[in-house]
Amino acid sequence: MMKKPFVTKEKVEEIVKTYPTPFHIYDEKGIRENAKAVKEAFAWNPGFKEYFAVKATPNPFLIKILHEYGCGTDCSSMTELMLSKAMGITGEDVMFSSNDTPFEEYTYAKELGAIINLDDITHIDFCEEACGGKLPETMSCRFNPGGVFQMSNGIMDNPGDAKYGLTTEQMFEAYEILMKKGVKYFGMHAFLASNTVTNEYYPQLAGQMFKLAVELHEKTGADIRFINLSGGVGIPYKPDQTPNDIRMIGEGVRKVYEEILVPAGMGDVAIYTEMGRFMMGPYGQLVTKAIHEKHTHKEYIGVDACAVNLMRPAMYGSYHHITVLGKEEAVCDHKYDVTGSLCENNDKFAIDRMLPEIEMGDYLVIHDTGAHGYAMGYNYNGKLKSAELLLKEDGSVQLIRRAETPKDYFATLDCFEEYKNIQ
Ligand SMILES: *Cc1c(COP(=O)(O)O)cnc(C)c1O
Repeated sequence: MMKKPFVTKEKVEEIVKTYPTPFHIYDEKGIRENAKAVKEAFAWNPGFKEYFAVKATPNPFLIKILHEYGCGTDCSSMTELMLSKAMGITGEDVMFSSNDTPFEEYTYAKELGAIINLDDITHIDFCEEACGGKLPETMSCRFNPGGVFQMSNGIMDNPGDAKYGLTTEQMFEAYEILMKKGVKYFGMHAFLASNTVTNEYYPQLAGQMFKLAVELHEKTGADIRFINLSGGVGIPYKPDQTPNDIRMIGEGVRKVYEEILVPAGMGDVAIYTEMGRFMMGPYGQLVTKAIHEKHTHKEYIGVDACAVNLMRPAMYGSYHHITVLGKEEAVCDHKYDVTGSLCENNDKFAIDRMLPEIEMGDYLVIHDTGAHGYAMGYNYNGKLKSAELLLKEDGSVQLIRRAETPKDYFATLDCFEEYKNIQ
């Protein structure tokens, strides 16, 4: 499939008059259509709720759009909880799926009325103390069966190597302890594979969790109210990948729900999800300008964005498709490394990528940066984080986060008088 940017060269030329490159831009129309499709795909389950993984795209303007479609927030830190509260999303609209959790974060989560999802059995007492001696009525535990998680198309992930969750044995023990401590309602959570570009992942995970839920209910008597399939639903970063079909995923989960939960008398269990990437990934793009070309042992194009704006290629070697605006139809007969300016040789958005001939001043769109893009930004080399813009449905552009300035960089240093009033 051809990957098409949602902005044109003309549009970008207009935008840069107000907001210079680099910037992340998000597509309101795409976000809305997808959120609606997710809601419809799970409409068969009356309790269904998507808790958007805030860490993927912590921008209130975007999360508020999702909230219109009934989405809550999945938080894993103090500031993510604070962000959720500031947006008016509190109570059971907040899932607190953290790990290695600081004491005060449990205290705050309880204050907000968030659903607390415990990552470890030893957190039960810790959390109880943080909650002032009384655990909330509803609690959830994160499950990790260990081993490898394998799907029929060969995709696999390695839960046995992951730091998260309780073992099967610990799940039984934890629910018994929690019941003794007065917890009334229970949830179950698991995240066993990441960025799965297959419709099989959720149904397979659901099957495994539903069986455990039935057993947990039968052996401990725990009143299980929801099963949280968490994140992990992937997107096609590469043009030759087939996108997931959320309707098929929803139907797949329904099938196992009817096979396993309904006959066990658990046909009222709610399905929750905590998708980040799938909700936002394809609807964000990083727009950057070619500012240097270099002909040495390889052909380099230097752009005005760097790994600070998008860390995935440097960190995981991830593929992000690139379109040179205005040259969408041109033949890709030039081989380039597309680089940022960090003093790190892994600061490359693409290596040996075939692209049309790039001229200085050309705008490049780096695709699928809507999740785990801006969010993973940092300030290495003193680089400042870019702005985030929203391309609204009516074609107008809204600034939804300004770019950092040197003032932000110096904000945590009180020793430089000369920078106190810098802008
Ligand atoms: C990262 C994360 C998610 C979201 O994962 P995606 O792959 O972006 O869907 C959901 N839940 C938890 C606990 C996470 O850590």
